[in-house]
Amino acid sequence: MNQVRFLSKERMNDSGFGELLAPYRLADQGRDNGNDMTAVKIHPGEAGNSSYISASLVKKIIEALDLPGNRTFLTDTTVLYGGRRMTAPDYVTLAYDHGFRMPGLPPFIVADGLAGFDEITIDLPSHCETRTARLASALTRTDNAVMVSHFKGHLLAGFGGSIKHLGMGWATKAGKLYQHSSVMPYVKAEKCTMCNVCLQVCGAEAIEPVENAVRINEAVCTGCGECIQRCPAGAIRIRWDQEAHTFMSRMTEYALAATMATKVQVYVNFLINISPDCDCMKNEAPPMVENIGVLASSDPVAIDQASLDLVNAAVPLAGNASAGEDKFLHIRPERDGREQLRIGEKIGLGKRSYKLVEV
Ligand code: SF4
Ligand code: SF4
Repeated sequence: MNQVRFLSKERMNDSGFGELLAPYRLADQGRDNGNDMTAVKIHPGEAGNSSYISASLVKKIIEALDLPGNRTFLTDTTVLYGGRRMTAPDYVTLAYDHGFRMPGLPPFIVADGLAGFDEITIDLPSHCETRTARLASALTRTDNAVMVSHFKGHLLAGFGGSIKHLGMGWATKAGKLYQHSSVMPYVKAEKCTMCNVCLQVCGAEAIEPVENAVRINEAVCTGCGECIQRCPAGAIRIRWDQEAHTFMSRMTEYALAATMATKVQVYVNFLINISPDCDCMKNEAPPMVENIGVLASSDPVAIDQASLDLVNAAVPLAGNASAGEDKFLHIRPERDGREQLRIGEKIGLGKRSYKLVEV
């Protein structure tokens, strides 16, 4: 049974983080040869969001793990939709605006290239429904990864923790499109100005002019997502219609692919500012429960299960479910996030059983 270590919110200071993460220090495991590249996977928050895990907390993790200064980097991938995380230049500037340039922090480097199309492919085992995952190219040179996740609600996944951070967080634009949608984008004709930019960028030649707009030929489209980003009118849209099981299955299988691409040293889930929505939201709703603390584990399924159990055991804040009730299911009954845990165990990503050890 995998251990999940727990640091209460009252002990979230330097010595507390040191105790929490002591078993996961690379140097103590004899795994750091001085040349290893270590990725610290974070989510610096969308513009307008304030509940993301702060730069100062990420710094405490790095210090407690004693990560080597010269080959460690903070990282994340670009997203499919508009905002300040769609391209690397936008995203780096946003991360800096959110404090991720403070002294003592390694550089923030976007993992999937300038616009989210630099990728590697990982073939999944035959027991997975997904055949090939499309992940950020930075993983080819990443020897170790530290996953720093914010555990909170999520519109499509029910909740988001380490599994979602692995599966969605390492995917390129095409990988995200595959998980989120029926893969093919569509053109909202009334927004199309017929500028023809999309025709020029579509390497598959899947876009063709029709009366007063263009349309995507689904028989030819590869789902790469390039046109979504390049359309100046925002006319090319994603079908956010993936039903719950398929979405969670694809996301969890992508999580498995990410663990096949790099060695994850430790998963860290912060159970603070637990809002109903993820850090991609501009104006998040108030927290559902009081802050709880931080968890660490080598198992992404066990740590998410433990996080869910702690949130559900917590006394809810006004207007939420009762203590002991599944708080995420209460607000989104159609999105049972426990599906991620069941699928994760089934495909060998980790185990739902765990031993909670408070430090
Ligand atoms: S890039 Fe956008 S606005 Fe231009 S033709 Fe394509 S869909 Fe229409
Ligand atoms: S998703 Fe890629 S292949 Fe499909 S229409 Fe857009 S640019 Fe072309």
